[in-house]
Amino acid sequence: MKNFLIILIMKILNFILKILGKKGGNFLGKLAYDWNDEIFKYFKISCPVIAVTATNGKTMTNNAIGFLFKEAGKKVISNIEGNNMETGILSTLLKNCSLTGKINADFLVFEVDEGYIPILFKDLRLDTLVILNFFRDQLDRNGEVESLILKINEFLKTYNGNLVLNSDDPNVSRLAKANPENKNIYYFSVDKYKFATKEIKEAGEGKFCPFCNSKLDYDYYQYSHIGKFKCPNCKYGNNSIFKIAKNVNLENKSFEVDGINYKTKFNSIYNIYNFTAVISVVSLYDIDTNIIQKALEKFQLNNGRMEELIIKDCKTIINLAKNPTGSNVSLRILNEDNDEKELLFVLNDNLADGKDVSWIWDINFDELKNVSRIVTSGSRAYDIAIRIKTSGYDDNKIFPHLNLDEAVKDLYSTNSKKYVIANYTALQPTRKEILSLK
Ligand SMILES: [Zn+2]
Repeated sequence: MKNFLIILIMKILNFILKILGKKGGNFLGKLAYDWNDEIFKYFKISCPVIAVTATNGKTMTNNAIGFLFKEAGKKVISNIEGNNMETGILSTLLKNCSLTGKINADFLVFEVDEGYIPILFKDLRLDTLVILNFFRDQLDRNGEVESLILKINEFLKTYNGNLVLNSDDPNVSRLAKANPENKNIYYFSVDKYKFATKEIKEAGEGKFCPFCNSKLDYDYYQYSHIGKFKCPNCKYGNNSIFKIAKNVNLENKSFEVDGINYKTKFNSIYNIYNFTAVISVVSLYDIDTNIIQKALEKFQLNNGRMEELIIKDCKTIINLAKNPTGSNVSLRILNEDNDEKELLFVLNDNLADGKDVSWIWDINFDELKNVSRIVTSGSRAYDIAIRIKTSGYDDNKIFPHLNLDEAVKDLYSTNSKKYVIANYTALQPTRKEILSLK
């Protein structure tokens, strides 16, 4: 009766929010969870529940899985707006359930914050968990990445569902051993690509074996600590792969899995990993490869995550970067592009970004290929400008503006190609400012 009442009230609130033109975010879930923190048990869910977690790439992967299922004619409920803590997911369920808690869908697909996996799936059934990567992120919120991995490892000790793991991230593939009884382990991987390196170019974790502490041997690094590794002592790293992307071609934005060619709208190695995870998941649910092929080619995100726009005749690529790895991935794409370009880097230090911006010192600015000018903005415009200057870039070509409007105007005062990197709270304001010039 109590849960029935909670749901009824939340539905009325949701209705009022809709009339007011508000989306609500975590609000409904927060209220309901404070009222009864066991409410997840009340939902009657008969379809598969899929969750995606990672430091980077959750939103893109989650949305692509949902999109592919929808293109296959399935009914999908998903937190595509990225409210990925337990209260955000609860909000999504509350909006989509009947008063008796029944959920009518073919698939539930959620992106889940790394720290919330054990909390959320204590009371909610989970069928497939996808883990993409673990990098250093917002230390003040999550604590060390290692403690996060241990928490998920603890949760996995009693988990028997499908586990889709990035075989090339030693922080991730170790989780296959959390429950030796679980036979539903599916590793995905990406074959060595054109810009893979022998030495690590970017600061990263996972250089030591999590089981015997020996230094891991890498055949190559794809980006950060993601690559082909093996422990010389205990042989950790020799996984049998479920899906591997081969013949990665970033110019054509294409790759192959099981001999089938896939085209996408994205051109970074980092997205190829995300899409290989997506293909692994949907093939567990027997989605036709023809449908996957067509849907992947159509899939895009219009939210500033690897978004391409034409503004004042200038090709503009906008990407979110919340941490060193996200920034390094964006800079990698920039450096893999031979055209002359300008960079705008917008750095805020609001609560959601983390007050501590020292992570910018882990960004690799050593190579800024054909970057003719850099504009910086955000509340820490000067910090990021100094960081870039310290890497050896000519400071006469760095233009900091605390005011975002001025920064964007300055950026578009020339007609070369633009790359834009913005952190969490900076992304949408920056995107809006840029789009206002369209
Ligand atoms: Zn080892």
